[in-house]
Amino acid sequence: MRTFELQHIVKQYVEESSTELILQDVNISVTPGEFLCLMGPSGCGKSTLLRIMAGLMEPTSGHVVGRPDRLGFVFQNFGLMPWLTVSQNIAFGLKMAGAPAKQVTRTVNRQIEALGLKGLENNHPKELSGGQKQRVGIARALAVDPDVLMLDEAFSALDTATAEELRLDLLKVWQETGTTVVMVTHSPEEAAQMADRIVVFSARPGSVDQVITNKLPRPRHLRSAEFFKLVDRLEGYIRSQ
Ligand code: ADP
Ligand code: MG
Repeated sequence: MRTFELQHIVKQYVEESSTELILQDVNISVTPGEFLCLMGPSGCGKSTLLRIMAGLMEPTSGHVVGRPDRLGFVFQNFGLMPWLTVSQNIAFGLKMAGAPAKQVTRTVNRQIEALGLKGLENNHPKELSGGQKQRVGIARALAVDPDVLMLDEAFSALDTATAEELRLDLLKVWQETGTTVVMVTHSPEEAAQMADRIVVFSARPGSVDQVITNKLPRPRHLRSAEFFKLVDRLEGYIRSQ
C-alpha cells in the first residue's frame, strides 16, 4: 500500500432549510501497516470521515489521495445479510469481485478457521450471538485480503467480555496479516489498547485536535500504570473540548 492521505476534508450536510458543517479541514496520513485509531466524542463526524475515507461518501471539498483498491469495512451493527448463511456472507465480497469458486471456498474456509466460526458455516445471522455476528463481519471484511481494514465502533454493540475477546483476535489478525487498520472509537481505553497512533478529534465540527503516538509495548498490559496514564491523557483531551 502507498501512503493514503486525507487532504483538507470538509463535509457539510445540507438539509432543507439549513447547512450543517460536520468536518472542518481534516488532514490525516495513514502509514502502511499501522493500526490507526480515530477517537472523538459522539457526533464529531468520525463515521462520516470513515465513509469518506472508504469512498462510500464524497466530501464537500478536499481530497482522498492514494486510496487502496481493496478495502474491508466492519460496521457497528454487523451489516450481515440475514438471508445468507455464515459462509455465504463471508463469500459475498469475493463473489461480487468475480473470484473463481475454488478460491472463494478456500478463502471462506481460512476465515472460518481464523475467526473461530467452525461449525457455524450453515447458520443464518439470526442464529448467532452478537459476538459471532461480528466475527462474521470481520471475516467478510478480511476475505477480500484488504489493504486497509476499516472498523466503525465495531465492538460497541457487544458485552464487555465479548468485545475484549474480539479485540484480541483483531490484534492477532493484524499482526499475522500485516494489513493496515483504521478503527473508529469513542473509547480512550480501546484506543490505548489497540492503536499505534491515535487521532483525537475536536467536537463538532470535527477537526484533528491531537495526533498521539502510542508507544506502549505490545502485548499491552491493561492494568499497568503507563496504560492508565495514557487513558487519562486521552480522556483529558476529550473533556477539555
Ligand atoms: P460520529 O460517528 O462521530 O458519532 P457522525 O459522523 O455519525 O458522527 O455524525 C456527525 C454529525 O452529522 C451528527 O450530528 C449527525 O447527526 C450528522 N449526520 C450524520 N449523517 C447525516 C446525514 N446523512 N444527513 C444529515 N446529517 C447527518
Ligand atoms: Mg459513528
